[in-house]
Amino acid sequence: MEPVKRNILLNPGPSTTTDTVKYAQIVPDICPREKEFAGLMKGLREDLVRVVHGDLEEYTSVLFCGSGTINIDVCINSLLPEEKKVLVINNGAYSTRAVEICEYYGLPHIDLRFPVDERPDLAKVEEVLKNDPDIALIHTTHNETGTGILNPIREIGALAHKYGAVFTVDTTSTYAMIPIDIAKDNIDFCMASAQKGLMAMTGLSFVVGKRAIIEKSASYSKRSYYCNLFLQYDCFEKTGEMHFTPPVQTIYATIQGLKEYWAEGEEGKWARHTRVFQAINRGLDELGFRQVIKPEWRAGLVSSAIYPDDPNWSFEKVHDYCYERGFTIYPGKISTTNTFRLCALGAIDEKDIEDFFVVFQEALQASGVSVPVHYSEEKGYRS
Ligand SMILES: *Cc1c(COP(=O)(O)O)cnc(C)c1O
Repeated sequence: MEPVKRNILLNPGPSTTTDTVKYAQIVPDICPREKEFAGLMKGLREDLVRVVHGDLEEYTSVLFCGSGTINIDVCINSLLPEEKKVLVINNGAYSTRAVEICEYYGLPHIDLRFPVDERPDLAKVEEVLKNDPDIALIHTTHNETGTGILNPIREIGALAHKYGAVFTVDTTSTYAMIPIDIAKDNIDFCMASAQKGLMAMTGLSFVVGKRAIIEKSASYSKRSYYCNLFLQYDCFEKTGEMHFTPPVQTIYATIQGLKEYWAEGEEGKWARHTRVFQAINRGLDELGFRQVIKPEWRAGLVSSAIYPDDPNWSFEKVHDYCYERGFTIYPGKISTTNTFRLCALGAIDEKDIEDFFVVFQEALQASGVSVPVHYSEEKGYRS
């Protein structure tokens, strides 16, 4: 097996993959309608439930061909009963996506907004629930990948259930990284795609959630032909297959990614991501960078650094310098503050981050940015 050039991706997914995952895609051609392939998907679906410790009787997973956003679309358009309302607890770009999905489908919804650098105020959430018995679906994001803030999903889930609503959580940037227990965390549906925590390839996304709720949703309005949760679930249950063509090679890569996930172990993997995250924070601190999110609120996977007030600072220049040397950094996703992100996803370790900061510091020097970087006023947080 010829090693593939290794790039260190510090963007929030797709993430750096192992060569064994890359090569898992090189297999004899197969028609995905063959029993052999359906068998592979059956094992895969069960494993995806096991990652979040779901009981296989009570929980199931449903696969879709698409990027992670398809899961948000599927959950919201499929799980809302007639005449009912969606509540989106929104403190960032990914929850805003859910709001836009409600708008596109014309679904009644409440966009309950909180500042992007703050956790949602649970008292306000409860106030809204108390006053609006029509809310049947609550959606939020676990790790708001745009900033790296961790939302209190277990508490939000408890509120959802207290008021009889279904709770869907976008766990795309925590699944198979931060340990999740779907039942204990009060989650009805969570979701992810193969290229993030599972460190596989793009093109496969999946929703993990309660069978009973999916079955109940069979009678709800069908608002999308391609992206309906019950239709896809029903097809899997009856035939073992995806309704339409699955991303064959990505499925092979994901099965290999899961093998490597079990070998590394939930705890071991989270410890590695934490090690990488701490190395990123150390590096940023040493160079004087400030971050958007308070240390105690960070999910531990995404650092959002604020642009320094230096006339020579250019994200593009620094990005290009690093990119040419095999390291990819990523712009921020906050409209009010200029930020860039460094993420701890993927098959990388502390040493890769140390190597990155050597190159990053060279990039700052090459563009004439003074180090440590400075800010014209007190802002953000150190680690
Ligand atoms: C990556 C990500 C998604 C999916 O984004 P795509 O661009 O569709 O891959 C959704 N939610 C969160 C929180 C994410 O980090």
